[in-house]
Amino acid sequence: MSIREVVLISGKGGTGKTTLTASLAAVAEERKILADADVDAPNLALLLHPAETHREPFSGMSIADADRERCSGCGICESACRYDAIHVRDGKAVVDEGFCEGCRVCLFVCPEQCISQKKIERGTIRRGETALGPLWHARLNPGGENTGLMVALLRKEARKEAKRIGATLIITDGPPGIGCPVTSSVTGADFAVIVSEPSRSALSDLRRAAELCGILAVPFGIVINRWNLSEELTETLKKTCGEQGWPLLGTVPFDERIAEAVGAGRIPVPEMGDALPALWGSIRKTGRLGQ
Ligand code: SF4
Ligand code: SF4
Repeated sequence: MSIREVVLISGKGGTGKTTLTASLAAVAEERKILADADVDAPNLALLLHPAETHREPFSGMSIADADRERCSGCGICESACRYDAIHVRDGKAVVDEGFCEGCRVCLFVCPEQCISQKKIERGTIRRGETALGPLWHARLNPGGENTGLMVALLRKEARKEAKRIGATLIITDGPPGIGCPVTSSVTGADFAVIVSEPSRSALSDLRRAAELCGILAVPFGIVINRWNLSEELTETLKKTCGEQGWPLLGTVPFDERIAEAVGAGRIPVPEMGDALPALWGSIRKTGRLGQ
């Protein structure tokens, strides 16, 4: 059987996406790999407690590096840089690493040929063993960029291991929002689960996430988490799903015991009750994961 990749996303953070990812992984019987693609705020490990087996630096793209000894301070690089990332200070070119996009224009224009490229460590990619299967996750250094590239590498590692050990399922906790790391998480996945909740911005968040899946041609369905926090808003979400033809995969109630279990670092499988296996069954069916 081929490897199926399910990614959980949400139009914004705080919808309970990570808790649902861990909980669904706990009830999915397939041999699986887990991945935390929310590299800006990786929280899946807090519930899965991985025993780390591997860690490697992530350097992302290369940036410019000016050799102070050979720099004449002519300022040509400063004028040529579209990103305002290199400046002459005290007669020498200095690269602002946070702004450099690695476009290499300064390398070509420098008459002294004293600019080269260097890689800087922007974070780490990690693997750990958990009770539910291997977990691939990552951590960006503060101010680190290239989250999309990091997510792509993470998914590649997860797929490689799935193939190696014969796992048929990859469950990924995707980042919130609709930015570059989300696109990187969803592109090429077999199915996306959009986690929504009855809040004021829920409808616009849901629309944005659904539009992204549509653009990327990834089939998706909706889960309404903590539906009982506002029955009125939940009805609005359900109505919109119906009108748009978006599959509603299921609903999960708010329950203090779920929050307590998560606070204690435990996956709230018993606390979610029947909603959980029903939801996983719906995801398998709608996403055609068993085929
Ligand atoms: S590599 Fe591009 S972005 Fe970076 S300093 Fe040079 S010109 Fe600017
Ligand atoms: S173009 Fe080269 S020599 Fe001129 S300021 Fe920039 S790094 Fe220095």
